[in-house]
Amino acid sequence: MLAGVGYGIATGLGLPFMLNKVLPNIFGSTDTDLMKKVWVVSLIPLSFIARGITGYLNTYYINYCGAYILEKIRTQLFDYFQVLPYRFFQKRQVGDLISRSISDSQVLQENVTSVANDLIKQPVTFVGAIGYIIFLAIKNPELAYVLVCLALIPVCILPIRHFGKKIRVKAKMMQEKTGDLSGRLSENLSANREIRAFNLQEKEKQNFRETIKDIFSSRMKVIKYHYLINPSVEIITSLGIAVAILYASLKHLSLEDLSPVIMALYLSYDPIKKLGSVHTRMKQALASMDRIEEVLHHPLEVEDPTTPVPFDRIVGKVEFRNIHFSYEPNQAALNSITLCIQPKEVVALIGPSGAGKTTFANLVLRYFDPTDGHLLIDGIDIRNVNQHDLRNQIAYVPQNPTLFNESVRNNILIGKTEASKLTPEEAAVLACAKNFIEELPEGFDTQIGEKGSRLSGGQIQRIAIARALLRNAPILILDEATSALDSENEHTIQQALQNLVKDKTVFIIAHRFSTISLADRILVFENGKTVGDGTHKELIKECDLYRRLYDGQK
Ligand code: ADP
Repeated sequence: MLAGVGYGIATGLGLPFMLNKVLPNIFGSTDTDLMKKVWVVSLIPLSFIARGITGYLNTYYINYCGAYILEKIRTQLFDYFQVLPYRFFQKRQVGDLISRSISDSQVLQENVTSVANDLIKQPVTFVGAIGYIIFLAIKNPELAYVLVCLALIPVCILPIRHFGKKIRVKAKMMQEKTGDLSGRLSENLSANREIRAFNLQEKEKQNFRETIKDIFSSRMKVIKYHYLINPSVEIITSLGIAVAILYASLKHLSLEDLSPVIMALYLSYDPIKKLGSVHTRMKQALASMDRIEEVLHHPLEVEDPTTPVPFDRIVGKVEFRNIHFSYEPNQAALNSITLCIQPKEVVALIGPSGAGKTTFANLVLRYFDPTDGHLLIDGIDIRNVNQHDLRNQIAYVPQNPTLFNESVRNNILIGKTEASKLTPEEAAVLACAKNFIEELPEGFDTQIGEKGSRLSGGQIQRIAIARALLRNAPILILDEATSALDSENEHTIQQALQNLVKDKTVFIIAHRFSTISLADRILVFENGKTVGDGTHKELIKECDLYRRLYDGQK
């Protein structure tokens, strides 16, 4: 800040002062003292040195702050992504969120840096120059007319305000389109197999071009308004300078008297021009800030209690007490669910698509809180437990597991908690994964490409099972893969699952009836309700829907 003030004084006051004092002293004086002349002219480089050093320090520290802010915002966003509710991600494109983290924060940083660079320098330059003009006017009443020229300054504000408003709207539009672009790009790259298989290249290219065109058009609008400010202010200020020159010539003022006035006038108009640009940049920064704040101000929905109940070494009794849940108002995804699952019971959830099986399992993971009712584990309402502690007691095998771009061993170790007893190798044996892992080029140390593209679907599932085995959690949630497996994979996965479900309270979202053989109890879902609850033998006799589903798969 000090550097900015120094720069402003050196520019706004120093330069016109030099023109007023130094040049007359050199050319007007009859003094032949060389040393005095050297001293006087040396004021020129001295004031530029002061301006250069302060300008440099000002820019350096402001850029430092800008870079610091950028990293802070990115870290803050990333940290917040880790705690935002599951529902938040269901509604948004990953690409758009990436764009908010990378592009919007960058736009914010660039604009804030450039704004901060001028925010102190320009007003101080402005005040210095105006102060000098007033000083000249007081000292020499002949020059008082220049004060009239300053009256044009408020007029300059009009185009600045007008274009600034337009820029905020267009800049936000541009950043939204950039988010869309990022979304399209990430979708296209991750769906590259489907795009080739369904010959979607032309359609994809067309969509991408349209988004690019939209960005281009919003960007050009931002540029149009941004660069209209300078000429508008310059035209208004040139009027002031022209009037000053005309008046000076009518009054027969000397060039010597006039030059510092012109310089000071120029130096007072110039900061306005730059402050105009500050204003438009602020608007661009605000547009990006809005998009970042939309994420940072999103409610957490599922929050940890202020005084959490300790939750460790549970036995795994799960109780649903009159649970209702809806994603959207008046559309129940689960309706009046009351049931109790005993420790180490293996429960299969079956029912047609959209019946509520996934929602049921998601409530146990506390991805959502019930709209009504209570979900208790070992007699404790899970709302009274820290989410971290709760999930430490649960192993989850999703339908399409994600492998991280690390070694196979590290991918299994992701499941590790204090309760883990197995080594990754032992877990891999139980998951029937050891053989294929050892055949990989570097065995357990083999790096997995993004999304595990070097492994087959069945192999990825077995690594996910090994991960869950290593976790050794009392509750297991298993969303069975729907993709067809070859008979060898089917058989080995079945074997791996048998090892996995041992001694745990298990929920299996079952898509194949073969998996039901693992279950002690089956819950049949229809339209958010349980319409059947019992063993296979009981349900075949008593539950119409179950019988229909069973007959359908035979
Ligand atoms: P299942 O797993 O049995 O196929 P789900 O639990 O996924 O069923 O869905 C239950 C109901 O909730 C369905 O009507 C589904 O359309 C709706 N649903 C699921 N997820 C969401 C969501 N994120 N937003 C709105 N509705 C949803």
